[in-house]
Amino acid sequence: MRPANPLIPTRILTINGGSSSIKFALFDAADSLRRILEGGIERIGLPDAIFQVKGQDQDQTDNFSRPLSASNHTEAVGALMDWIERRSGRDPLTAVGHRVLQGGPKYYKPQRITAEMVTELKRLSPFDPDHLPEEILLTEAFHRRFPDLPQVACFDTTFHHDLPRVAQMLPIPRRYEAQGVRRYGFHGLSYAFLMEELARLAGPEAAQGRIILAHLGNGASLAAVRHGKSVDTSMSFTPTSGVPMSTRSGDLDPGLVWYLARTEKMSAKQFNEMVNFQSGLLGISETSSDMRDLLKHETQDVRAAEAVALFCYQVKKWIGAFAAALGGLDTLLFAGGIGENSPSVRARICDGLGFLGIDLDKKRNAANEGVISTAASRVAVRVIRTDEELMIARSVCQTLGLNVSTETENEDHATKGLQLCSTQLKR
Ligand code: ADP
Repeated sequence: MRPANPLIPTRILTINGGSSSIKFALFDAADSLRRILEGGIERIGLPDAIFQVKGQDQDQTDNFSRPLSASNHTEAVGALMDWIERRSGRDPLTAVGHRVLQGGPKYYKPQRITAEMVTELKRLSPFDPDHLPEEILLTEAFHRRFPDLPQVACFDTTFHHDLPRVAQMLPIPRRYEAQGVRRYGFHGLSYAFLMEELARLAGPEAAQGRIILAHLGNGASLAAVRHGKSVDTSMSFTPTSGVPMSTRSGDLDPGLVWYLARTEKMSAKQFNEMVNFQSGLLGISETSSDMRDLLKHETQDVRAAEAVALFCYQVKKWIGAFAAALGGLDTLLFAGGIGENSPSVRARICDGLGFLGIDLDKKRNAANEGVISTAASRVAVRVIRTDEELMIARSVCQTLGLNVSTETENEDHATKGLQLCSTQLKR
């Protein structure tokens, strides 16, 4: 094990590549994983693409927002690497961590990216053609430009890898499972972070209890956790499933595919486009995929009101289902842009769940406090700000053996990666 030397800068860049954006953050592992900067390239493929960096220090070169000509991912990645290369002249990178949606049954532990892994990820691209190709492109481009820079893949499926068999199986012909078709679950980096925070804030006993984690952002999912392990989760083989999201439908009647194919000659590709980019809050409201917009307009526009109502109702239903799967509930935890910031959505989700022991404290909820349940509530309801980037940085440190104490040396580092670093590196 190699402890981080506070005198030697140890820079970890985290990359989170989406279908139309690349988000990144830079951490200093020699300074308790302090966040040095964060930024992103947004609206890739549109005429008004933008490249923004926001630094924590006074350094003005790490603070800018400028338009970018990036008609596709390759151009966007090129611009990102040009900037990194220039910046590295004064502050070299130690390693890069990539959020990778999934690595199928074979790759799920955070680990160094190898040519063999990239080949497997390419083979798996049909699992998620909307994310994996861009993520692979990013890792390959980095490898070409910075061949000596260690790159670590951090899979969003890790947290759910040991789902009980009954939660993993999909009720379709058994032969598809041999191809890797099963429930994987996502938002694993966020869930791992939230569990560490829960243990830190509420104590290890609470973190061992019956917990429902609700990550409600543009992408939204819930996870049922017991003894610190995921026992079920709403997203399944792809992130399109589960609760309705900003533009994703969530779970649907499978009969709809054939109905639309017959009546509208809708192709599989068009169906995929519809359920990923035209559905959810946007599909129902016909105006916006953004919860803030919908809350603003719900009193004048019934479509906005119905979109909000459907979202809250579906999340409530999943909470009920997961309470059943867990045999009761001790902690309900909200995170993600909506979960962290919207008292009104949280209140609507929790309304009527008194029978489960959930009792919200109106004032605490309105103030977005850490604990938003009453003192008498049987279930502790919490709000925790998630941090997927920091989780990636922790995983990178652990995978590369940075700042991990010797007592963990003989353990399976990759599996424990999401837990180890965080206990060693304070936020
Ligand atoms: P992503 O999944 O892309 O990381 P976020 O976690 O940032 O997205 O969540 C974005 C969602 O959070 C949007 O629907 C946004 O409207 C919603 N949101 C952010 N702040 C608030 C707020 N104060 N009230 C209601 N919704 C909010």
